[in-house]
Amino acid sequence: MAIQRPKGTQDHLPDGSPKLRLDISARAFRHVTDTARTVLERGGAAFIATPIFEEAELVKRGVGGSTDIVRKEMFMVHYFGDHGGYVLRPEGTAGIVRAFIENGLKQLPSPLKLWTHGPMFRAENVQKGRLRQFHQVDYEVLGSADPLVDAEAIWLMVQVVEALGLTGVGVKLGSIGDPEDRDTYNAYLRELFTPHAERLSADSQDRLTRNPMRILDSKSKEDQAIIAELAVKPMLDFLGTDAEAHFAAVRAYLDAWGVAYEVDPSIVRGLDYYRRTAWELHHAHIGAKSALGGGGRYDGLAAQLGGQETPGIGWAFGVERILLAMEQEGLTLPAPDGPVVYLAALDAGQVPSAAQAALSLRSVMRAEFGLKAQKPGNAFREAERRGARYAGLIGSDEAAAGTVAVKNLATGEQVSVKVEALADALTH
Ligand code: AMP
Repeated sequence: MAIQRPKGTQDHLPDGSPKLRLDISARAFRHVTDTARTVLERGGAAFIATPIFEEAELVKRGVGGSTDIVRKEMFMVHYFGDHGGYVLRPEGTAGIVRAFIENGLKQLPSPLKLWTHGPMFRAENVQKGRLRQFHQVDYEVLGSADPLVDAEAIWLMVQVVEALGLTGVGVKLGSIGDPEDRDTYNAYLRELFTPHAERLSADSQDRLTRNPMRILDSKSKEDQAIIAELAVKPMLDFLGTDAEAHFAAVRAYLDAWGVAYEVDPSIVRGLDYYRRTAWELHHAHIGAKSALGGGGRYDGLAAQLGGQETPGIGWAFGVERILLAMEQEGLTLPAPDGPVVYLAALDAGQVPSAAQAALSLRSVMRAEFGLKAQKPGNAFREAERRGARYAGLIGSDEAAAGTVAVKNLATGEQVSVKVEALADALTH
């Protein structure tokens, strides 16, 4: 049997592939990352790329040892004789913050805005929109705790999805306060849940001792029923004065800029280094549990990774989920550009001339050529199939005269053009 791709992965296919859908179209992927690049680089972000595998310890500290990602979903990397301590990255932030510290990037103008895109890996239960290798676009800002930076980050995220043409997108905004606010909240949750501990899932019983806030994030229906039954107060009710003022400032900027959002008190990020602003990007037609993206402030992360205290904030969205949302909205990509010209030889002896003419055009345009001699009718059909605007034929007469017979495939007009004048004739 032919070998198939691993479960939870996808091939990104070229245009014209028989089973093409938007979420596996290589061109659609590039459209998303190109759009993100335009928007984010206009906002001052520089591109960064970090390794796809990192020390497991980085991910543990960067994502949090109590998260499902670290406990259950890590892909370990093994090679002969290694120390076994590498994992495929499940997200982008930890690697970027590590690179910021390791490469002394704090010397660059601050705050430093960075963006990247690439594959992420999580050994999850595979469903529609939930893969084991998926792709994210990531934006991170290091070096400022100003609420203006939070608002700008959210604005940029919305700009990217709007530039892609999506309309059914909403921001759910919350705040998880400062560490001391979360201590108070966790104490409240512990007191509230402890009498019901034995009804909680095994995972949530564990969370009750380690980090009660994470119970609120539980995927278990029984846990969610207990949460509803206990009428748990949201984290937002526990914000201290500073976090409250920060949250109000972020909202005021978003209001002033006309960014629509909904305050969602249920947003939780239960890790020590997360601070204050947290949000998710949702889509009307993609289940409530499947966000298009999410972001948050992580002022404690750089120190957690062994660097100097550096405030930071970032977001990521899933490219596959964005493409699924685009498909739901019936958005399509503009038709792909074909070559400007397809050059064909009428006899085998002229194939090298057709090839050479195509190569010399490539400094100014996309030009292709046929590998074998073709009859004119076949050459025109082949040119049309490739989406070319012109077909150029070289037979023995043309070869002798140093010309190409050029046909405009839209108008049918045919002219003889000197090889040296070809580039000019095809661009005017
Ligand atoms: P997270 O890093 O968990 O906040 O995820 C950010 C975004 O990445 C999510 O909102 C999804 O769009 C996407 N994402 C996360 N996990 C997966 C997955 N297993 N498959 C596809 N997309 C994912």
